[in-house]
Amino acid sequence: MEHPPYLVLLYYLYTDIANPEQYCEEHRALCESHELLGRIIVAKEGINGTVSGTREACEAYMKAMHSDPLTAEITFKVDEEQSHVFPKLSVKARSEIVTLGLGSEDLSPNVTTGHHLTPSEWKEQMKDPDAIILDARNDYEFDLGHFKGAIRPDIGNFKELPDWIQEHRSQLEGKKILTYCTGGIRCEKFSGYLVQEGFENVNQLLGGIVEYGKDPEARGENYDGECYVFDQRIGVPVNHVNPKTVSRCKHCNTGSTRYVNCAHAPCNAQHFCCEPCQKNYKRYCCIECQEADIQIQNSATQPNI
Ligand SMILES: [Zn+2]
Ligand SMILES: [Zn+2]
Repeated sequence: MEHPPYLVLLYYLYTDIANPEQYCEEHRALCESHELLGRIIVAKEGINGTVSGTREACEAYMKAMHSDPLTAEITFKVDEEQSHVFPKLSVKARSEIVTLGLGSEDLSPNVTTGHHLTPSEWKEQMKDPDAIILDARNDYEFDLGHFKGAIRPDIGNFKELPDWIQEHRSQLEGKKILTYCTGGIRCEKFSGYLVQEGFENVNQLLGGIVEYGKDPEARGENYDGECYVFDQRIGVPVNHVNPKTVSRCKHCNTGSTRYVNCAHAPCNAQHFCCEPCQKNYKRYCCIECQEADIQIQNSATQPNI
């Protein structure tokens, strides 16, 4: 069988970038020369990106990154695809490569971070009944899939996580904490925050869920559902051992990993909806949203008197 012609790359590196604006300009030119699409964030603290392109383009890009001393250490997570998974290219300079918003308390994960666990170490540690498995992602990501037994912080944005920790401190105090995210980048800083806050046994999954699914030993075992990704795929499979669907269609409650946005524009709520229900409910998350649009349409077609 032929290999799919496109690749999707996911990567990050905490490294000192003296002039993020200038780096962005040069990096955008590099991406454009290879016709890559995707989203890249550059800050003084490093680079965080995900791009798609042809196999040849992605290989040339990885080679270019590895031959630059600044990014020689970078690790790429690679998926095969049939086409691009991004509609455009965005390369932006920001104050952080992931926004935890610690302000003056901000830290460098190269100095302060949790203990890294390889996928196979993580698989073993998960079995410890005294360990707390803490998801560092947003609630809607958790709902598509997560590690068995993980805690779901009810946050819609990574910036809200420090406040959530303060509110749930007593639950975590003195415990072995195992924290994880999609590709590992959010945990680098978040676990550093936990260490800074005085938690003593803080561990993070190296390479995140994505690497855990690709690791030949872990093979995604005991991860339920899919992994939420920020591109057109929305979800990718992880578990090749004991997979299970944990998300359910909002309308009929059958297992479904289809995440869609509500057709009523002011709502736009991301919700699970199976294919038959999408036909019946016309991609509305609820009857109220459907009726709201019918009213808007009616008032638009009524003649002015
Ligand atoms: Zn349904
Ligand atoms: Zn709605």
